[in-house]
Amino acid sequence: LSDFTDQRITVAGLGVSGISAARALAGLGARVTVVDGGDGPALRERAERLQAEGITVRLGDAETLPEDTELIVTSPGWRPDSPLFAAAAEAGVDVVGDVEIAWRLRGEGAPPWLAVTGTNGKTTTVRMLAAILEAAGLRTAAVGNIGTPIIDVVLCQEPYDVLAVELSSYQLHWAPSLRAHSAAVLNLAPDHLDWHGSMKAYAADKGRIYQGNKVACVYNAADPATERLVEQADVEEGCRAIGFTLGPPRLSELGVVDGILVDRAFVADRQRNAQELAEVSDIAPQSGKAAPHNIANALAAAALARAFGVEPRAVRDGLRSFRPDAHRIAHVADVAGVAYVDDSKATNTHAAEASLAAYDSIVWIAGGLAKGATFDELATAAAGRLRGVVLIGADRALIREALARHAPDVPVVDLDRTDTGAMAAAVREAARLAGPGDTVLLAPACASMDMFTNYQERGESFARAVRELPSGRGAQQ
Ligand code: ADP
Repeated sequence: LSDFTDQRITVAGLGVSGISAARALAGLGARVTVVDGGDGPALRERAERLQAEGITVRLGDAETLPEDTELIVTSPGWRPDSPLFAAAAEAGVDVVGDVEIAWRLRGEGAPPWLAVTGTNGKTTTVRMLAAILEAAGLRTAAVGNIGTPIIDVVLCQEPYDVLAVELSSYQLHWAPSLRAHSAAVLNLAPDHLDWHGSMKAYAADKGRIYQGNKVACVYNAADPATERLVEQADVEEGCRAIGFTLGPPRLSELGVVDGILVDRAFVADRQRNAQELAEVSDIAPQSGKAAPHNIANALAAAALARAFGVEPRAVRDGLRSFRPDAHRIAHVADVAGVAYVDDSKATNTHAAEASLAAYDSIVWIAGGLAKGATFDELATAAAGRLRGVVLIGADRALIREALARHAPDVPVVDLDRTDTGAMAAAVREAARLAGPGDTVLLAPACASMDMFTNYQERGESFARAVRELPSGRGAQQ
């Protein structure tokens, strides 16, 4: 257990995780300075509040290392090549993230962590896992990148049995001593490469989640890169590699047989070689047919829960009670026989590809900030399912060109707009292109910040526009 009393700690970033880290460390007796390069009214207001609590805040300079700094605690958004960290390296000062601090602060008898990472599906899987653990009667919380700062949960006095922890690649990068009970990497596709520098560095950061695992390293049998990370990990003796697959499971895998989730990894009864866990239709039954990627997420959550000793019945009950977070394949309304689905959280091509695979005849609304992505693979995969496409946002030309190469017959409407009214226009265009039985799907494959504050605002704008369609008035939510 670490003792931070009187340590001079610099917290990089005055955001949610920075504020949580600063307060927690100051509460433990550290002498905290928060630095942030920004200097706007919102930051000043936050700064004043922290200063009133005895925390030093320096705005408008993200580069100079405050004097006598002994440790830097960084917010996830700060890139490893930030000048502040170069200064720290020169001065021999360690840089860690909030997850590392939380890990170092765990007390005697602290609950084990079941950890989840991956390019897509983290939040969904962690919510499913927490629902399953709760159905098993365990005291648990969904924490980390999901929104609840992990330091706050570790320091609160609540007696948890186990934590369901979502970790981003950034958080893993800065958490060298983390050792989970069991962990899963759901998938690996190019994303955030500007931050990590290369796909190799990104994969290596994701792979840290397996370091020192005690019981199980869960990987995606359809994504060999995840299995390679397990092979490269240094784990505790007896820790097993457990795969999940949408097909029939091999030994040491969880998979699907005739619409049933089946476990061939944790079978207690030696007379049997497989254990039925739940039906596919048990996955959030009120949301309609489960998309394939959500079946994969359910299998990963089930694998972690089973590694922790949870009974099959709790897997089923947990999946039944699980509710997806907003803007993740959320059915907004049916208007004139057309279903409108909000998957605004599909902020990269890998997510959008999964989302498009879940429907047969789609009018697709896409575009935004591409973050350096290419769209050829996505356009090829989606070509056969597209009834039409409506493009908005800054980087829409990249998508338009990929569609011209791989889906030349699909009608594409390029709205050539990035103003906030563009979403309503896009929905009206999509309604015109769609026919009964089709799905209008917002799965932008891009980040939202060119037009919106975040993906939530983008999804809300879509839902509002759907309700404003001429025949959409009073449409069922
Ligand atoms: P994350 O927390 O990793 O961003 P979410 O669970 O919030 O993931 O899902 C984000 C989006 O990624 C979803 O809206 C969906 O489009 C897509 N998605 C979810 N699970 C998967 C998966 N297993 N594989 C591919 N795409 C997925």
